[in-house]
Amino acid sequence: MTKKLSLQSIILLLISCAMLATFIGVTYVTLIESKENNQKNILTENAVYSEKLAGTTDLLFQNMINTLEVSAANIYSNLDDPDLVVELNQLLKSSNFFNAIYLVDKEGYIVKSTPKLILEGTKVTTMGVKEAIFKKYTTISQPYRSQVTGKNVVLVSVPVYNKTNGEYFGFLGGTIHLNEINSLQDTLSLHPSHSNGSYVYVVDSKGQIIYHPESERIGDTVIENKVVAKVTKGHAGKEKVINTKGIKMLAGYAPVKTSEWGIISQTPEKSIMTPALNSVKDIIKYTVPIFIIIYLLSFLLLRKIFSPLRKLTKYAKDVATNQKTPTPVINNNSLEISELKRTIFKLVTHYNMQILNFEKEVQFDHLTGLLNRRSFNKMTSNLDTYSMVLFDIDHFKKVNDTYGHLMGDEVLKFIANIVLDEIKDKGHCFRFGGEEFLLVLPETSVEEAYRISEKLRTRVQLSISPVNSTITISLGVGGVPYSNAYKTEALDQIDKALYIAKNEGRNRTIIAESKQ
Ligand code: GH3
Ligand code: MG
Ligand code: MG
Repeated sequence: MTKKLSLQSIILLLISCAMLATFIGVTYVTLIESKENNQKNILTENAVYSEKLAGTTDLLFQNMINTLEVSAANIYSNLDDPDLVVELNQLLKSSNFFNAIYLVDKEGYIVKSTPKLILEGTKVTTMGVKEAIFKKYTTISQPYRSQVTGKNVVLVSVPVYNKTNGEYFGFLGGTIHLNEINSLQDTLSLHPSHSNGSYVYVVDSKGQIIYHPESERIGDTVIENKVVAKVTKGHAGKEKVINTKGIKMLAGYAPVKTSEWGIISQTPEKSIMTPALNSVKDIIKYTVPIFIIIYLLSFLLLRKIFSPLRKLTKYAKDVATNQKTPTPVINNNSLEISELKRTIFKLVTHYNMQILNFEKEVQFDHLTGLLNRRSFNKMTSNLDTYSMVLFDIDHFKKVNDTYGHLMGDEVLKFIANIVLDEIKDKGHCFRFGGEEFLLVLPETSVEEAYRISEKLRTRVQLSISPVNSTITISLGVGGVPYSNAYKTEALDQIDKALYIAKNEGRNRTIIAESKQ
C-alpha cells in the first residue's frame, strides 16, 4: 500500500516548490541581466579605452614629428657644424621618443647618427629608409628589422631640404625599437593589468602585431581576425570576437591615424560571469534566511491549523472503535474548524444516543415494554437467591381467533401493565415467549412468590380486558434459594408446574417441586 502524504506535508511541499521556483526565477533573471549588462559595459569600456589610447598614441607620433621637424629646419645649414651631433644628442635625450636618431642623405648614406652605432657614411637599404627617401615627406614606416641593430623598429622621418635652393637633401629620422623602453612602449603599456584578463594589443596597417603583452606574439600577422580587419581599414567599434587561441573576447578597437595602426583592447567573455555569480551569491545571502523564516512560519501556522484536525480525527476514531475518550479541547476558532468541531461533536452525541437506543432495543420487548428473554440471563447472573414465576395466558389462541391478532396484542399489553403495577420494585418481569411471561423476584421466598402470583392471577381475572371477556392466566412458581447455578433446573421444574396448572384446569398457581 502506498503511504499517504499528510495534507500538511503536501502544503509544505508546495510552499517549498514555490520558494524554489521563485529563487530559480530570480537567480536566472539576475544572471542573464547581469551577464548582458556586464557584456555591454565591458564592450563599451574597451571601445572607449582603445579610442583613448589611439588618441594618445596619435598625439605621441604628432609630438615626435613636431620635434623632428623643428630640428630638421635647422640642420642643413649646419651640416659641417661639429655641434650638429650635439644637437642630435640633445634631441635624443630631451625626449624619450626614439632609441636612435639618424640624418640620412637622399642616397641612403648615414650623414650623422646618435648614438654612434654605425659608422657614418654607411649606406642603409632598409625598408624604412627606402620608403622615407622615396616619399620625401613626413613618414611613419611599417615596422621592419633594422639593418643597424637587427631589432624590430619603426622609423619616423621628416624630410630635410637645402635652405638656399630648396633641394631635397634627405631625411632626419628617429627609430623606435618596438621591444624596448621608450615613450611609445610607455603609452601602450599604460593599460593596467586587469584581474579580469583584459589586455591591449596593437597591429600595424597590415595586421601584424607590433605590441602585445606576451612579447612572443609580436610579429604575428592576425589580419584574419575580424576586429583586426576592421581596425586596419580605419574603423573603430566594439564587438564579440574569437581570438586566435579560440577564446571568446569582448573587444573594443580604434585606429591610430598618423601611423595607420590599430589598437585593440579586449576582455575574455567568461570574465563577465564573475560579477554575475557575485550577484547570485548576494541573492542567496539575502533570500535563503527569508525563505527559512517563511518556511518556519508556514510550518508553525500549518501545525496550528492541523493540530485540531488531528485531535478531531483521533477523537472520532476512538469513538468509532468504542474506546473511552475524553472530548478534546480545541482552541482554533477558524470558521471551518469550528464548524467541523461542532459537526463532529453533534455526530458523536447522535451516535451515542443511537447506541443507547440500540442497547434498549436489545434489552426490551417493544410490544409490551417489558424486559425480553435476552435480558433474563444478564439480570439473574448477579442474583443468588430469588424466586421465579412463569405464567401463560389461557386459551390465548382463541382470543386471537375471535378478536384478531391486533386485539391479541392489546391483551398482551394489558397483562404486562397489570404485572408491572403488581410487582412494582419487588422484581422484574420478562416477556419470555409469545404469551408467556416470567417474574424474577429477588430475595423472595417461594411462599411469598406464591402469594404474589395468586394476587396477580386474581387481579387479571377480575380486570376488564380489552376484549371485554375474562382473561385468565396459569402460573408455575419455584425458587433458586442458594445459587444462580440452579437456575436452569429450577426453570424446568417451574415449567412443569405451569404445565400441571394448565392440565389441572388453568387459572391457577402451582408450586414447582424443589429438587434442592
Ligand atoms: P393454553 O391455554 O393451553 O395456553 O392455550 P393457548 O391457546 O394459549 O395455546 P398456545 O400456547 O398453543 O397458543 C399461544 C398462541 O399465542 C399462539 C400464537 O398465535 C399466539 N401468540 C404468540 N405470540 C403472540 C403475539 O405476540 N401476539 C398475538 N396476538 N398472538 C400471539
Ligand atoms: Mg402458551
Ligand atoms: Mg396459552
